[in-house]
Amino acid sequence: MNRQENILTDSFGREHTYLRISLTERCNLRCTYCMPAEGIQLSPKSHLMSFEEIYTIAKLFVDHGVTKIRLTGGEPLVRKDAATILEKLASLPVELAITTNAVSVDRFVDTFKKCGIQNINVSLDSLQPEKFKQVTRRDEFERTYNNILLLIKEGFNVKMNAVLMKGFNDNEVVDFVQFTKNHPVAVRFIEFMPFDGNAWKLDKTVSYQEIMQQVNFHFPEGKVIRLQDAPNDTSKNYKIEGYKGSFAVISSVTNPFCDTCNRLRLTANGQLKNCLFSASETDLLTPLREGKSIEPIIKEAVHAKFKVRGGMDTLDKLQNPDLHGKNRSMIAIGG
Ligand code: SAM
Ligand code: SF4
Repeated sequence: MNRQENILTDSFGREHTYLRISLTERCNLRCTYCMPAEGIQLSPKSHLMSFEEIYTIAKLFVDHGVTKIRLTGGEPLVRKDAATILEKLASLPVELAITTNAVSVDRFVDTFKKCGIQNINVSLDSLQPEKFKQVTRRDEFERTYNNILLLIKEGFNVKMNAVLMKGFNDNEVVDFVQFTKNHPVAVRFIEFMPFDGNAWKLDKTVSYQEIMQQVNFHFPEGKVIRLQDAPNDTSKNYKIEGYKGSFAVISSVTNPFCDTCNRLRLTANGQLKNCLFSASETDLLTPLREGKSIEPIIKEAVHAKFKVRGGMDTLDKLQNPDLHGKNRSMIAIGG
């Protein structure tokens, strides 16, 4: 495909080959960092993409060069037609992946296999049931934990996301790394990011440097091995010598990886977001329903992408609630 003409190449030459589609704004958990305590204003059902509309838009992106689609949410598996959507998207020539809180994945193992899904990202912010309950505001630790073990046992390639918050779960870094001793899983520590209503403060974010300090303090010198990161990888990857799994840090706050960003996001109500941090959105669903061509609209939205973090290129700007507070809660974006 001609790079100049590709509608998914932005003004900095970044080619967008990875689309994350949110299937729903709903969730069976209520994570404090993801949504405000009072919940969010849900879009009316008629404003959400139907499974046919999801397929139509996804196919268009694939036709223009997208090679990977990740389904997310909200919790993608609470959507009633989640299995139908997975099966429909599996017919596209694309790598299909999913991010889930794992609460109900046991009911989807066969569907995942049928759809050729291998890469599953799960969220687990604490290995302690009480803390899990505190952060998710729900009592689902056992089910979540057992389901993660089930996915590993069934041979899926599991990445386990933990959002670290200072004074809450930052003392579990070593426990999480120890979890990789006997489990072939990739634990990923995610820096806490600011979104509407999540009471973010920079001093609650546990930085890449702080995480690695804990790891290097605990494990003997020479045992912490830096792994090669994949192209467009947002994480810095490591493993402990002899352990079955690995671990990584995703440092979007202290160390953004925007230069190699290849991601676009489609919200459950059909808005294209060219950056996770950007408050601006482009409506694809209304013009699609009006029978208009959405390609020029996508092209313009991709072209307008900022170089770094939706224009918040410094930590000062990131800390300005007038800038980050306009962005939706993560639950309504699709992380
Ligand atoms: N419900 C699914 C789950 O929890 O995995 C998928 C959606 S969730 C919004 C996707 C990812 O976003 C999760 O790994 C979650 O930890 C992450 N996330 C949500 N809010 C965040 C925040 N404020 N900072 C960093 N990561 C966040
Ligand atoms: Fe739900 Fe995932 Fe957000 Fe937690 S992080 S509230 S599981 S969407």
